[in-house]
Amino acid sequence: MKRSDRLKLNLEIIADELCLIFGKPASRLADEHKILDVLIATKLSQNTTDKSSYKAFNRLKEKFGSWENVAEAKESEIRECIKVCGLANTKARDIKLMLIEMIAKYGKLDLRFFKNISDEEIYDELLSFKGIGVKTASCVLVFALGRDVFPVDTHVHRTLNRLGIVKTNSPDKTFEAANIVIPEGRKYELHTNLIKFGRNICRSKNPLCSLCSFYSRCVFEEKSTYRKQSSKAMLENNFLILEEI
Ligand code: SF4
Repeated sequence: MKRSDRLKLNLEIIADELCLIFGKPASRLADEHKILDVLIATKLSQNTTDKSSYKAFNRLKEKFGSWENVAEAKESEIRECIKVCGLANTKARDIKLMLIEMIAKYGKLDLRFFKNISDEEIYDELLSFKGIGVKTASCVLVFALGRDVFPVDTHVHRTLNRLGIVKTNSPDKTFEAANIVIPEGRKYELHTNLIKFGRNICRSKNPLCSLCSFYSRCVFEEKSTYRKQSSKAMLENNFLILEEI
């Protein structure tokens, strides 16, 4: 069997097991009206919890009413509004700048034309804006447009390396390596369930290896140490902001 076929088979098994643990995520309906919402929610969620970024997102919507109004607002007003989610200076500056650049480039804040262009063209468009990376663009493709791509954040990167699916040293490299082998039609499901797995079981620090269904296939060198330590119950941390947008 070819290596890529073996990895696909392993991923099918992992995806099935994750569905037993966390459930199968409800299918995601495309809604081109939500492209900017998803984009800004993803920006807000960087380096913070989904709960606090969701609060910041709702505050922005309530205070300004439209993304056009956010583009015209003072940076200090945006910063004050989103301070609950951390890195408010950078996020306020980047969001305002991105919205202004979009108005300059497209004439208005309307990205519905993304619905009619390819994934590659959407990546080209979004990556041309400062502060938008591959992960953020991938989230837009999946969560606003229902495309079958596989966003890789820090949890997905860590868990796929520990599970021996990839051997990479950055989320962007994991994105390249994983997208080739993730089974068609299961990318969204695997993305969301690997995040839940990474937050609750295969945590960055102190993974709960004694509770892990994948212990035998895991290639993490310290797994036997953590297996002895981790007998506490699984913590529940399953709120995902993009499932709420
Ligand atoms: S055994 Fe531990 S390190 Fe390996 S995948 Fe499971 S939780 Fe993660």
